[in-house]
Amino acid sequence: MKAIKLREADAMKEKLVSINPGNLSKVGEVDITTKEELAEIVRRAKQAQLGWEALGFHGRRPFFNSLAAYLLDNWQEIAKSISLENGKPYLEATLAEVYPVIDDIKYFAKRAQRLLSDAKIPIRLFKFIGKKSYMTYRPVGVVGIISPWNYPYLIPFSEVIMAMVAGNAVILKPSELTPLTGGKIQEAMDAAGFPRDVFSVIYGDGRTGAELVKAGLSKIIFTGSVATGKKIMAAAAESLTPVVLELGGKDPMVVLKDADLDMAARGAVWAAFMNSGQTCASVERVYVDESIRSEFTELVVGHTMKLRHGDRLDDHSTDVGAMIDERQLAIVESHVADAVSKGAKVLTGGKRPEALKGYFYQPTVLDTVDHRMKIMTEETFGPCLPIMGFRTEEEAVRLANDSRYALTASVWSKDIGRATSIARQIVAGTVAINDHAMTYGIPETPWGGSKESGFGRTHSTIGLMEMVEPVHIHVDRGWLRRKPWWYPYGDSTSRFVRAIIWLTRHLGFLID
Ligand code: NAD
Repeated sequence: MKAIKLREADAMKEKLVSINPGNLSKVGEVDITTKEELAEIVRRAKQAQLGWEALGFHGRRPFFNSLAAYLLDNWQEIAKSISLENGKPYLEATLAEVYPVIDDIKYFAKRAQRLLSDAKIPIRLFKFIGKKSYMTYRPVGVVGIISPWNYPYLIPFSEVIMAMVAGNAVILKPSELTPLTGGKIQEAMDAAGFPRDVFSVIYGDGRTGAELVKAGLSKIIFTGSVATGKKIMAAAAESLTPVVLELGGKDPMVVLKDADLDMAARGAVWAAFMNSGQTCASVERVYVDESIRSEFTELVVGHTMKLRHGDRLDDHSTDVGAMIDERQLAIVESHVADAVSKGAKVLTGGKRPEALKGYFYQPTVLDTVDHRMKIMTEETFGPCLPIMGFRTEEEAVRLANDSRYALTASVWSKDIGRATSIARQIVAGTVAINDHAMTYGIPETPWGGSKESGFGRTHSTIGLMEMVEPVHIHVDRGWLRRKPWWYPYGDSTSRFVRAIIWLTRHLGFLID
């Protein structure tokens, strides 16, 4: 059975119907944005962006202050609505969706001006002939944000904030599986009084996303699957629209023999099962030193069996909620079946709970796994924690890097120096030591990957830089009215060339 969130045509408009994945009841519906409406939204956004940019950082800041105040007043109601539409526990919706947005607003609204201020470029000896250079940063224009359903508030909203503090207008297309949460973002922006048309949400599935990519925007920030990322890059190439691609992951966790085993086990269980394992940076494979494998595995199984799995999302009595839909559940089942058929053992979990009506899969721990199995090589994106042993640290690094993904990773050890040396050898956008995945919640730190996990970064100064056009301004004060490299070429040019070569060879001329 495919997800119930289908297009339902009524007489006038196509609609997206939003379903609570915990109990399969309808939560609400929205109208799908038509091509004509999108064209008008783009036209208005381009117009509105000019005024928004002209306000400058100082003029834009009060809107973000109002936005933070609105979220601080309404965080409970927002978190509740996210958990109803997405299936995650209410506490997770507060901690991993609403709170980090507030922190992002506070951080970027306060610091963007400094982070994006003009920056002098030292130009060595050229300064002595009356020259100077500096960087200045202009907003790119109108940014299109296309986002997934797994963190339907935090992911798009943090990108909206970074784009808009920098002076861009934004058009957001939330996932078709979580459209109402996209609407909650619009609601917050409207309540904070942002000027009309500088921020708009459009609704629809991949077809609407594809229209947005073709709509002549200045940049597309995409978060989602590798398959869609490739389509977006190909479509954006037609108009040379720049893209940032934040794609899937298959994060490794490496546990060294001197790790604090209970801490590592608790960390693994949280990072594998939060959001029902539907996090791009979930721990999707654990490599543990063979000498401590059975002790570590026992602890992991023990902590997993204590998890409260269910659909009571709003009363603090659920640790692991629902998955998003039938399609995602079927992928998890197929990965577990493939692993078992090749010799894996399921230590706990491994099936849908009979008592729950929605899209649930039990938190599942597997061992006797290897890289012939999909569960160790393809993104599972569900509550599965496969554990594999290693004998040497070289082997651990080789296994961690044996993946087409490279989003984040972690190394666990009491010896930070040793863990750091392993971290430096793992190919990933972030390698954490003794924690996993949570750095998305630290606005100062960059997020993004390489290989098929995509390219470009969000968050941090680097993420902010994705939202601007760097412009180099070069000034010549006119001290040398005739430059030695200008026409006419002749003896004086030749003497100049010989002089700079001689000086560079003997004195390191151009080096400060
Ligand atoms: P998806 O690729 O199916 O959809 C993502 C978005 O793209 C949706 O809004 C969808 O409507 C839109 N879309 C689909 N086809 C399109 C097209 N041809 N043109 C334009 N837009 C199109 O992904 P999903 O299932 O929503 O999300 C899960 C994936 O996202 C996982 O692979 C996960 O790892 C990844 N993800 C990555 C990060 C990260 O930071 N790297 C964060 C969260 C999720």
